[in-house]
Amino acid sequence: MPETVEKNRIDNLKAPLLVSWQITRDCDLACLHCCTESAPGKRLSDELDREESMKVVGENGISLDDIWADGPLSYRSVALPHMPNFFMINGPYGPSGSTSVVGLIEVHVDYVMGCLDYVLQHGCAISPCPKRSAALIAEIRARSARTIWATGGCKSWYLDRHGVPLLNPLSLDQLGEEMRHPDFSDFLHHTLPDRQTA
Ligand code: SF4
Repeated sequence: MPETVEKNRIDNLKAPLLVSWQITRDCDLACLHCCTESAPGKRLSDELDREESMKVVGENGISLDDIWADGPLSYRSVALPHMPNFFMINGPYGPSGSTSVVGLIEVHVDYVMGCLDYVLQHGCAISPCPKRSAALIAEIRARSARTIWATGGCKSWYLDRHGVPLLNPLSLDQLGEEMRHPDFSDFLHHTLPDRQTA
């Protein structure tokens, strides 16, 4: 590619095409199989702290702090309203407490890969509809409140201040069925600013 074309490309990029974010390596656990070598005290020197992390902004300057002001919110634990093309693995209400996290992660990764294929194919950005996300969370919370985690009389770190577990009540099979294919009618579509490609 001629040097001038390459230069134009870089000068006109408004943002990185892809950012991945491992939130912390300072994990409470120290699993031998951990592929990131996370453990207590293993925080990297350039990690964002909590306050900095919550300042990450999406459309119209809405921050993670704003989105989570009334409690954890997500769309199927993999996306967030007002955050176009922001995808998570095992986000809020992702853990189940009764099934393998590896299985959950596989379901989430497949779903996110489906979303990425879609945005690449259509050259757009997507973010889940806020109302749909809130409705799904309300549904999860209603079901979760009927599980043994809430009704068995135990106290655990899964329970929020209302005594509702921050857990997905679905079995792995149910979750896999519900998330087999992304439902793009649940997403708002955003056009991307033009990028100079040649
Ligand atoms: S595998 Fe997960 S839980 Fe275990 S140390 Fe690594 S990040 Fe923490």
